[in-house]
Amino acid sequence: MRIGVDLDGIIFDYVGEVLRRWNAEFDASFEETDMTDYEIWKSLGVSKQTYMEWYEGEVVEEGLLVDLPPYPDAETFLWELLGPIEELDILPNDIIFLTARDCQYSAADTSWALEQLDFPFKELHFCEAKWRVDCDVYIDDNPHLLHRFKKLNKELMLLERPWTQHIEGTFPTYNSIVTYLDTKVKRMYDNGY
Ligand SMILES: [Mg+2]
Repeated sequence: MRIGVDLDGIIFDYVGEVLRRWNAEFDASFEETDMTDYEIWKSLGVSKQTYMEWYEGEVVEEGLLVDLPPYPDAETFLWELLGPIEELDILPNDIIFLTARDCQYSAADTSWALEQLDFPFKELHFCEAKWRVDCDVYIDDNPHLLHRFKKLNKELMLLERPWTQHIEGTFPTYNSIVTYLDTKVKRMYDNGY
């Protein structure tokens, strides 16, 4: 099974690092739980332009994307996604990393961060239209993707994060995703996948 996994917000603590820098620079005290909107600037109470000017400087000049730590349980989560399923004696899944990062500015930083992660992913794609990369299931934290995936009848699992809480529906945690996909892949193999 091909599992498409977003990087920022799923594996790397992007919002946490943005807030650490924002708080330090503007003497603020935002926490991740304050980020109830996917668009960070809305939760910070500034204009998009103000935020983007600051943000681009942090990415291009201050290496923001190099410094992103993985979430504490992210590496365990990835290994669990990979398998193996004991009774099948194989690694049934491929991890496909999908990121909307701007390739021009972030390719080198992203490669470096993934080297530190030391995880055997199959592919890395820089694209906003993540649905164009063929996967059996997608894991992301961007609620704006929901509509398009639904329309295309593709399976998107939107992780439980502060910025997905205001949307209707229930959102899975790392553990519930692993349990669900474990069942799904077993069923696929039973059906001759
Ligand atoms: Mg994300």
